Amino acid sequence: MGAPTRIAIILGLGAAAAGAGIWATGATWEDITHMGQPRNVLEIEGQEIRVPQAQTTGERLSPAVAVSTTGEHSFLFTEDEEPTRYDPCMELAWVHNPAGMPDGAEGLVASAVADIETYTGLAFSYEGEVDEVAHFDRALIQEEYGDRFAPIIIGWSDEESTPDLAGSTAGLGGSSSVTGAYGDQRFLAAGVVILDTEDLGELLGESNGSERAESIIRHELAHVVGLGHVEDSTELMHAENMAAAAWGPGDRQGLAIAGAGPCQ
Ligand SMILES: [Zn+2]
Repeated sequence: MGAPTRIAIILGLGAAAAGAGIWATGATWEDITHMGQPRNVLEIEGQEIRVPQAQTTGERLSPAVAVSTTGEHSFLFTEDEEPTRYDPCMELAWVHNPAGMPDGAEGLVASAVADIETYTGLAFSYEGEVDEVAHFDRALIQEEYGDRFAPIIIGWSDEESTPDLAGSTAGLGGSSSVTGAYGDQRFLAAGVVILDTEDLGELLGESNGSERAESIIRHELAHVVGLGHVEDSTELMHAENMAAAAWGPGDRQGLAIAGAGPCQ
């Protein structure tokens, strides 16, 4: 039995990214105050949908995390050598679909989210359980979530429903790169984590299993906030690393940078 590994699925997510330069009808007051700037639109299932206005005061919600370590880290999306990140002036809403969650996993998801908050300085906001099935071609804006990008979803699956979980892959994580409502600055949105019920269930039956299972969830959440894999096997962002349960110096540097992006 191979040790569970995890990969990032990012291809296909960027494909739904917002394009600029198309006027949409029904201008709002915010549109008028952005006079001369076209509101960006997204194409979702063949329909053009206006990119939601940022619900933001323009101030960070939590203090940025000082970079105090250096080591190998990478980012999944970059634009002009700057990583593409979540907007730290907005809450990162997240939801959980617990269907398929193995025994003993209660609490691990929330604990992993709290850990990512600590190391990124991003503010997550839990919105409860949902029926939406987590997958990577989800619509970025969905009626049930209102006029905003869909919250980060964490769900459970198996290799039949999610072939990318085949073999020893224990989880998948990523976000979409989108533009804000105006301009061409890119942000992350609508993140997805899919966890392998069977792999994590087996792990939870072993000694130190819950610590290792949580480290898998933390690894996938790090993909959600924009981190990619590294070669250094002492970092948690190594693609197949099961040895490290704690963040390495490069992981911590990457997470601090991931949380220090610009606001809209
Ligand atoms: Zn990974």
